[in-house]
Amino acid sequence: MYETMEALQASCAGCTRCRLCEGRTNLVFGVGDPKADLLFVGEGPGYQEDVQGEPFVGPSGQLLDKLLAAIDLDRQNGVYIANIVKCRPPQNRDPQPDEQDICLTWLREQVRVLRPKIIVCLGRIAAQKLIDPEFRVTKEHGQFVERKGVWMMGTFHPAALLRNPAQKPDAFDDFLALRDKLQELGL
Ligand code: SF4
Repeated sequence: MYETMEALQASCAGCTRCRLCEGRTNLVFGVGDPKADLLFVGEGPGYQEDVQGEPFVGPSGQLLDKLLAAIDLDRQNGVYIANIVKCRPPQNRDPQPDEQDICLTWLREQVRVLRPKIIVCLGRIAAQKLIDPEFRVTKEHGQFVERKGVWMMGTFHPAALLRNPAQKPDAFDDFLALRDKLQELGL
């Protein structure tokens, strides 16, 4: 049991629980406000994230920062950002189910320490792991469901939005819905 995100991160730092440790440059634990009410969860580190040791850097991170700024948020205040797996899968392939399950033990600890009121899943992998194994981003994005007192929502992964800019208006609407939910909860 860890009392702080700092202690948890120190414990996670040398993790070799799954095969993804073999190819990493840096373990990407997470970033943000350790007292945040709002947690974003992506899939796993890409090239830039692996090099810099921080989630959502590079072009997809810049887009996430723009979406956050559009609803007056930023990654250092009231927001924490993590991933389903904390080490980069080779050639940016999807993390395999066993890798996700093993690494989820760290994310569960992060959630236990942070106790967020809202979790936003960025992309299919995170939404299917945390909300519903059948989750379809194009159909169910922006819809909030409550699980054990935590509001959860899935939306597009910023990297997917860069590949398919036509989905950006839908993603923007999801962030507006997030702003409404934050206001509704008095956060
Ligand atoms: S992906 Fe997760 S479980 Fe696997 S080595 Fe990295 S931190 Fe450990």
